[in-house]
Amino acid sequence: MQTDFLIVGGGAIGLTSAQALLQAGYRVTVVERGAVGQEASWAGGGILSPLCSWDYQEAVTRLAHRGMSMFGEAAESLHAATGIDPEYQRSGMLLLPPYQADLAMRWCEQHQVALQEVNLAGQLPESFYARLGNGLLMPEVAQVRNPRLMRALRKQVEMLGGVIVEQHEVKQFEIAGDRVVALQTTSGKLVADAYIVTAGAWSKTLLGEHALNIDIRPIRGQILLFKFDAPPFQNILLKQDLYLIPRRDGHVLVGSTLEDVGFDRTTTTEARDNLLGRVREIFPDWQDRQPIQHWAGLRPGSPDNIPTIGRHPQLVNLYANSGHFRYGITMSLASAELLRNEIEAKPQPFSIEEYRWR
Ligand SMILES: Cc1cc2nc3c(=O)[nH]c(=O)nc-3n(C[C@H](O)[C@H](O)[C@H](O)COP(=O)(O)OP(=O)(O)OC[C@H]3O[C@@H](n4cnc5c(N)ncnc54)[C@H](O)[C@@H]3O)c2cc1C
Repeated sequence: MQTDFLIVGGGAIGLTSAQALLQAGYRVTVVERGAVGQEASWAGGGILSPLCSWDYQEAVTRLAHRGMSMFGEAAESLHAATGIDPEYQRSGMLLLPPYQADLAMRWCEQHQVALQEVNLAGQLPESFYARLGNGLLMPEVAQVRNPRLMRALRKQVEMLGGVIVEQHEVKQFEIAGDRVVALQTTSGKLVADAYIVTAGAWSKTLLGEHALNIDIRPIRGQILLFKFDAPPFQNILLKQDLYLIPRRDGHVLVGSTLEDVGFDRTTTTEARDNLLGRVREIFPDWQDRQPIQHWAGLRPGSPDNIPTIGRHPQLVNLYANSGHFRYGITMSLASAELLRNEIEAKPQPFSIEEYRWR
């Protein structure tokens, strides 16, 4: 198999990296331990924005905003090319009190992000607004539906001539001098000119001694899924760190937890009860409503939510695009763009110092 790039890990980051490189004319193979798009990128909520952007450093904002600005058009062309609709929609995100109004307003003004104070009476069903008063609406915030996005990305990678090799777990890097010469997998050896690690929460473990400053650990997130006949509200709702995401067909995702429990993707009754309790505080009439599904995923947790994007400082043909923590879908297209620019030594849209592999 002749290939320019072997990408390890077929999540949103691996597939968008593959897409960007295929579009630039390279031959690309994605090698995936299980099936493509079944881990964090499947499990996530698909909100295309940080939750409270003002809580993060500029390095997060820059990458997230670049990704957000690319998504609408990318989702449309993905839909047109593959026939699979990732259900991109600008549903807006409505913050329910309590929140830091002054901080949020100042930050949005500084970053030219639309934010309006709204009376919740006009936004939520009548029975709740009286208790909640006003909210803050970010009307530009969009969402996608993760499993559909992943199916569409997979199809596009294949349509662009990319090769996807599933059920091959990469176990080790074979090194000679300052180069990676092969990957040892559970089903034999794979060889390419260059290698890109996009293994999400597993990236640091996979890289072993070559990880250097990459400090990624799994942070579990659990989500409950509800089903209504039609969307019960239009905006994504955010109350502190609890969010509710209405899909077009009446599904509502309620999430999520942030749990430092290692590589354990099981769901727990504690998390279920906690999410249910908090959602019922907002919507008392959900008292008898039960979730139809409950799942967990492992985020690639990194310090300050800043991913590592770029070339290994010693191994000249090894790259990483990993550690996107809570915002990997939001950042995916921009991260792939930065990676491709780095590979081709092209100018970057902004400083990439904070994302460098050291
Ligand atoms: C509950 C939850 C809610 C979230 N909500 C949002 C949100 O609303 N918005 C947002 O932007 N982000 C959200 N995220 C975060 C986002 O989902 C992640 O940042 C993103 O999916 C990371 O993508 P990835 O491709 O790096 O990782 P993954 O999707 O986990 O993909 C990594 C892949 O690498 C493979 N792999 C690992 N080791 C090996 C190996 N040795 N050999 C071969 N393959 C390997 C894995 O099998 C996996 O398929 C959420 C995450 C969770 C869990």
